[in-house]
Amino acid sequence: MNTSALWQAFQQTIMPHCAFCGLSRIAGYPLCTQCHEALPWLQPEQNLPLSGCPASLSAFVYQAPISNLLLGIKFGKNLRELATLGELTATGILPQLEKVPDAILPVPLHNARLHKRGFNQALELARPLAKQLGIPLLTRTITRNKATLPQTELNAKQRQHNLQQAFQLNIPTPYRHIAIFDDVITTGATARELAALLLANGVEHVEIWSCARTIFTPQTHD
Ligand SMILES: [Zn+2]
Repeated sequence: MNTSALWQAFQQTIMPHCAFCGLSRIAGYPLCTQCHEALPWLQPEQNLPLSGCPASLSAFVYQAPISNLLLGIKFGKNLRELATLGELTATGILPQLEKVPDAILPVPLHNARLHKRGFNQALELARPLAKQLGIPLLTRTITRNKATLPQTELNAKQRQHNLQQAFQLNIPTPYRHIAIFDDVITTGATARELAALLLANGVEHVEIWSCARTIFTPQTHD
């Protein structure tokens, strides 16, 4: 190994590369400063309440490059990108927290879809949050017992109907404050259905967290 190759190897060890662009990254963080700043971090004024939903916290606005990453992960099983996005999600959500919940409940996938895909992206994305907060991830409390159609193919009314009785509580939960976690929140229909089930079974406080959420630009009239 010549000196320059050695120097490169040394540099990569002490200054690992940004997961997006390959430049030197911020110590202890997956990205470089430029890539971190270019991401569509959700601003407090963009976090408008979702109709009929508990309060929500999201790291990002659902737009490029986050939307592309999430779609790529869903269909390409890129677990390294999933881990990076999980870390970024924690970076966006943790500073917004007012009270730490007792547990996180990732939105469950139906077993058939889980077997086909091999992983639940909501669960994988929530791992760094659970780890950093030192709270459990609830993976068996609720199952999805109806193979629902992908929500993205339906309108708002069809989404709600599609989800009726889609979830089932398997074990009573001792936790009083639970954060439901999904990869993306659009209308909030999935989270609303899960929140209703938890609240009907003794949970006192439910909130919704996600990696990204869609935002609606208010119509302006002149
Ligand atoms: Zn970068």
